[in-house]
Amino acid sequence: MATQTYPIEIKPVSESRLRGLDINNVPFGRLFSDHMLVATYDEGSWNPATILPYGKLEMSPSISALHYGQAVFEGMKAYKGPAGEALLFRPQANFERINRSAARLCMPPIPEEIFLDGLRELVRLDANWIPTRPGSALYIRPIYFATDESIGLRPSQEYILAIICCPVGAYYAEPVKLTVTREYVRAFPGGTGAAKAAGNYAASLLADRLAKQQGYDNVLWLDGVDQTYIEECGTMNVFFVIDGVVITPPLGGTILPGITRDSIITLLKEQGRPVEERRIALTEILAAHKQGRLQEAFGAGTAATIAQIETIAIDGVELNLEVTGEGQYGARLLKHLDEIKTGKREDHHGWMMEV
Ligand SMILES: *Cc1c(COP(=O)(O)O)cnc(C)c1O
Repeated sequence: MATQTYPIEIKPVSESRLRGLDINNVPFGRLFSDHMLVATYDEGSWNPATILPYGKLEMSPSISALHYGQAVFEGMKAYKGPAGEALLFRPQANFERINRSAARLCMPPIPEEIFLDGLRELVRLDANWIPTRPGSALYIRPIYFATDESIGLRPSQEYILAIICCPVGAYYAEPVKLTVTREYVRAFPGGTGAAKAAGNYAASLLADRLAKQQGYDNVLWLDGVDQTYIEECGTMNVFFVIDGVVITPPLGGTILPGITRDSIITLLKEQGRPVEERRIALTEILAAHKQGRLQEAFGAGTAATIAQIETIAIDGVELNLEVTGEGQYGARLLKHLDEIKTGKREDHHGWMMEV
């Protein structure tokens, strides 16, 4: 079988919307760059992608993504290097993950040429949209969804992949406050917790709203079976430091395999620091805090990179954690990762891709 090739058609904007905009000061996720990528799948194969001016897509109200949530997404960032070059952080990992998410939702795999080459072309075209202020980046959001015009429940025969970009600043300027929810869970064994499936996030909104009404930034999610073990915080992976050991819950179906999480574990192992992927009971955190052994906690994900955790509320009791101490892991890892992402530190893992 001949390998199909996917030439990318580019229809550039006649005039950039950048003029007069201060991309170093924009609200998160509401201003989009000049271009987007769109690729469609039908009759059993992918059509070549087009990069065109950001704008509306026309679609029918019967498309199955809207009814049954057959939709997955990704989140990644582009940075400016020292010479002004555009750099993507671990895009291959996002490519592999969107196809794992897609497989979980019975969606066909996206060819590497469409996803990665398309991404490179898109970011090259919109490189001037990458903000340069520390902590800021061009956030890239691939979204892949079912477009069959049919309300019969079955895997769609037609799909759209779109990639859009928005300049973003630092996500959490302040350390975050979390509260445990006993009422709702994010994921359970056999479910879709390990996939970046759109429906997971709709399902998390109510618990998130309740947390915010009580003055917290995010939910600290417990496992969906016994509500005993800590799984994630908000839409981030979570890390604790107890007695100098960095601990994070293990992957295994209910936890989203974060690329930031993996990068942190890789760096810590390389530095010879003790790091454990194991289950962490809420009672262990309570006890460690009481005994003064819980040194810090932080969330990890693309949007925030690392968000130091200041407070964890458990059944009405608030644990307050150190957020600025000497030699804290969170701040050190954030700096290390930022230096790699902006080309200020040697990238011996081959994580950065220049576009
Ligand atoms: C995306 C996401 C993460 C973080 O993954 P990164 O690849 O580090 O951005 C963690 N948890 C959830 C639930 C997520 O959706």
